[in-house]
Amino acid sequence: MQHIPLIIIGGGPIGLACAIEAKKAGIDYVIIEKSALVNSLYHYPVNMTFFSTSERLEIGGVPFVSNNPKPKRDEALEYYRRVVASFDLHIKLFEEVQQVTKVVNLFEVITSKDTYTADNIIIATGFYDIPYLLDVPGEDLPKVTHYYNDPHYYAFRDVIVVGAMNSGVDAALETWRKGARVTLVIRGAEIGTRVKYWVRPDIENRIKEGSIKAYFNSTIKQIRENEVDINTPEGLVTIKNDFVIAATGYQPNLQFLKQMGVRLSNDAVEAPVLDPDTHETSVKGIYLAGVICGGMNTHRLFIENSREHAVKIIDAIRKQM
Ligand SMILES: Cc1cc2nc3c(=O)[nH]c(=O)nc-3n(C[C@H](O)[C@H](O)[C@H](O)COP(=O)(O)OP(=O)(O)OC[C@H]3O[C@@H](n4cnc5c(N)ncnc54)[C@H](O)[C@@H]3O)c2cc1C
Repeated sequence: MQHIPLIIIGGGPIGLACAIEAKKAGIDYVIIEKSALVNSLYHYPVNMTFFSTSERLEIGGVPFVSNNPKPKRDEALEYYRRVVASFDLHIKLFEEVQQVTKVVNLFEVITSKDTYTADNIIIATGFYDIPYLLDVPGEDLPKVTHYYNDPHYYAFRDVIVVGAMNSGVDAALETWRKGARVTLVIRGAEIGTRVKYWVRPDIENRIKEGSIKAYFNSTIKQIRENEVDINTPEGLVTIKNDFVIAATGYQPNLQFLKQMGVRLSNDAVEAPVLDPDTHETSVKGIYLAGVICGGMNTHRLFIENSREHAVKIIDAIRKQM
């Protein structure tokens, strides 16, 4: 069984930032990533533009040069690939961490491919792996997706987009612009308040002019092969449908933390209990970094404002070595 002083779980931007700091501090580490490098970003829509400007997505002090102030997904993939190559980071891709158990003073880490021991663990697993389900009949049909990707696929088809936060609004506008007939189904009474300020007028005007149909205060009741039932304030409406894009958000895998004994707050947020200076959890030697630190509140932390976790954590690990 291989012993690695520090195992970082998750090869997203913040897991990479932790690895860079570990390398700078001379701490032997490995990142274990269950899929491709920066897997969450890889699964973002192909045309997606970050709301952050590129310098706010930088890690390890490496400049992020992009064509426009706010970079696109493919530019971010290029950037993080270059960072990994230039620091020669140790990363095991397509290997999922399944269990972490404390055995006396060490952690036993079981993955889909191997078993390791480690002195310290950093968990940087993000929040993009578990979508919030609609929980309605027909949600498991192949025409339903929780991960919208490319608008061309939907050209000249009847598309329902569920949700009116940034992802839903982007999907509705992009697919409509490629010729889809788009209906938005929105649980609330208006377009989400956090929708990017430069996008909001676009969606509001498309709805006002009738180019995109919107049902507010409405929910999906049932999805069938060729149609969908919608609960609206005016009663049940059935519309023709080819595809459903459920842009209903994602939640972090808190069960993974609970299995390791990490204590969470008792309220609905289930925020992991952390030392604010070191990001150490209630389990000595397990640290959290990135968006996972916010528990169910996934809007509080993002790349921009969680890059700093890496420095705090590695500083703490270095001091106790
Ligand atoms: C559409 C969209 C646009 C966004 N735009 C911005 C923006 O402009 N600016 C910004 O700052 N933030 C933005 N965010 C948020 C940002 O992408 C996330 O906050 C960021 O990815 C968090 O980084 P992370 O490293 O904590 O988690 P992630 O990037 O999610 O990385 C976690 C990694 O852990 C891996 N993993 C999970 N479980 C395991 C396991 N058991 N074993 C091994 N590996 C595992 C995952 O595959 C993933 O690669 C956006 C998010 C979305 C959805």
